Amino acid sequence: MTDKVKLTIDGQTVEVERGKTILEAASQAGIEIPVLCYFAHTTANGLCRLCVVEVEGTRGLQASCVTEARPESVVHTRSAQVERARRTILEMLAASVDLSDSPEVLNMLEEYQARPERFNGARKRQPALIDDNPAYIRDYAKCVLCWRCVQVCAEDAQYTYAINFSGRGFGTQISTFFEKPMPETTCVFCGQCVGVCPTGALKGKREFLFEQGISPDDIFKETRLRGKGKQSRKGPHLDRGA
Ligand code: SF4
Repeated sequence: MTDKVKLTIDGQTVEVERGKTILEAASQAGIEIPVLCYFAHTTANGLCRLCVVEVEGTRGLQASCVTEARPESVVHTRSAQVERARRTILEMLAASVDLSDSPEVLNMLEEYQARPERFNGARKRQPALIDDNPAYIRDYAKCVLCWRCVQVCAEDAQYTYAINFSGRGFGTQISTFFEKPMPETTCVFCGQCVGVCPTGALKGKREFLFEQGISPDDIFKETRLRGKGKQSRKGPHLDRGA
């Protein structure tokens, strides 16, 4: 058994190391597949399904971030079926999540000519912005549940396990255990969750306050002086109701 695999992606022959995913093979061939939950430094989980591709001879579309490149397989990354699936996923996302801080997703919406108004029905609840520590804010109205933050908080990086999924259906969101304020959890404020969040749902407190027009002096006080035991779910500069 050779350790190389040859397959065809969008008519191009690609040779990759055995064990590589279709996403990696496509990237090696210069073919871009859109991703959202996928992040190079976290374990691929196939959650968002934006990276789906058509593989001839298989049933349904395959999430390319978790599907191994098989010898002799023929892959289509932009077929009509693939485009329709991506468009629908984007429409459902935009119908239920505030994507205003996600320029990459907004670009995809345009590229795939998504019409979120097609899903003007039941909606995800819009949770209040949580401002409970001096390091970062959590605005889960902008969360696409990509799971990256949970992964870096756990085995992919920090082994801290401060956050995880909670709730079901439209009520699903990232949360701490028993929704405790972050300083009462195992969080060590390493900031890795903020670094991997693709939508601005997690944002450094200073960046957030700066965007609100707060002066550097006040930002300094806000992020230095409010320590443990002085947290609230809604900071003094937030105008969105809890
Ligand atoms: S908070 Fe950000 S990183 Fe975490 S699941 Fe939501 S969008 Fe993903």
